[in-house]
Amino acid sequence: MKTIIEPFRIKSVEPIYFTTREQRKEILGKAFYNPFRIHASDVLIDLLTDSGTSAMSSSQWAGIMQGDESYAGSTSFFRFEESVKSITGMPLVIPTHQGRAAEKIIFTILGGKGKYFLSNTLFDTTRANIEFSGGVGIDLICEEGKHPSIPAPFKGNMDVGALERTIQSIGADNIPLVMITITNNSGGGQPVSMQNIRDVRKICSAYNIPLFIDACRFAENAYFIKLREAGFAEMSVPEIAREMFSYADGCTMSAKKDAFGNIGGFLAMRDLSLALQCRNLLIITEGFTTYGGLAGRDLEAIAIGLQEVMDEHYLQYRIRSIEYLTNKLITAGVPVMQPAGGHAVYIDAKEFLKHIPVDQYPGQALVSALYEAGGIRCVEIGSLMFGKYDDTGKLIPAQLELVRLAIPRRVYTQSHIDYVSEVIIEVFGNRYGINGMKIMEETPLLRHFTAKLQPVY
Ligand SMILES: *Cc1c(COP(=O)(O)O)cnc(C)c1O
Repeated sequence: MKTIIEPFRIKSVEPIYFTTREQRKEILGKAFYNPFRIHASDVLIDLLTDSGTSAMSSSQWAGIMQGDESYAGSTSFFRFEESVKSITGMPLVIPTHQGRAAEKIIFTILGGKGKYFLSNTLFDTTRANIEFSGGVGIDLICEEGKHPSIPAPFKGNMDVGALERTIQSIGADNIPLVMITITNNSGGGQPVSMQNIRDVRKICSAYNIPLFIDACRFAENAYFIKLREAGFAEMSVPEIAREMFSYADGCTMSAKKDAFGNIGGFLAMRDLSLALQCRNLLIITEGFTTYGGLAGRDLEAIAIGLQEVMDEHYLQYRIRSIEYLTNKLITAGVPVMQPAGGHAVYIDAKEFLKHIPVDQYPGQALVSALYEAGGIRCVEIGSLMFGKYDDTGKLIPAQLELVRLAIPRRVYTQSHIDYVSEVIIEVFGNRYGINGMKIMEETPLLRHFTAKLQPVY
């Protein structure tokens, strides 16, 4: 088999910024060891997120010029609506300015005190929106998903047995929604199988609980199903996507992921009375129902991106480039989540930095070390992001201490990725010189975005 190449050529380029190790040490200190506080112009390879960082295609840029900026009934909205409908089969489409705006709307309506939302794994903004409403989010990831180094084809699956037991113990009346995140971002970008979606659907139907999909990476998930699940090899990605969505009552989506948008999102659903409530809130918080906080040009770019993302040459390159980096790290003995996920490589920081206890945030320590060593920016997905405190102020750690290197779509080439692997392998060789971290300042919700930290000596 020949090398799988980038399925595009480059028409427009932008510079990346080189710094010295000494400069980066100083920058880290000034940023309080929080990558979200580092200026982008001080970053060489930016793997903080794959969100909103995609390179748009020439068709999308052409669409930008065709954006219809009419306040009501914009033609760009109808193109957007048609694109979403064709993929999801859902008749009611509500644009929002990003994924969390869709979450804010749905959980404001369905959430509140005494309400429980069950999921394979809720993404951080999803969980925060549930908790902000007064509700509780519960993650029910399958057993394979709890072991980063043991490969399995569908580690994003929900534990169906736990789902049923949890519904019985909490009571279906207190569960307004079950949400399945595809692919499972916080759980390592791992896919969910079609069979698991069907099984979850069956249980939801038995207890009369609506099922929503967090569809941010629907195309990557569909491609994994095609590659790994029996019976799907001959189906096209749009057909697989259509079947996945057929089991759901609705979905939330960030167009900053699998729609190649730099901004945008939507809610889609089948229930008209719920959609009317959502639209009422939309008008208050986002904008009129045919633009929802977006410019017409953004709607146009998303409508096009949603179709482009299902191209199998693109998906093959996408999934392969993540696997390529993952395999290089595995070969060098670096502990990573296996198998490779759809959008990111996840390093197991607990294993990588065995000498740093979880209450000294090994993930954050590794994030800082990678920036210092090579100007690479990435993010901790562990106890800084998901940790809680007990009544005595002791950290209740997250299940996993991961560092995520998210790969922006269509942005970096193979030599960038080779460089990243070289830096990680070098840091791995010097790992015992890395210190733990302590938090100096934090906020009660989503603290990882703004927290100030310092090394523990
Ligand atoms: C990014 C993301 C969101 C939130 O979307 P934003 O556009 O960043 O607000 C929700 N769920 C998942 C799985 C995501 O990856």
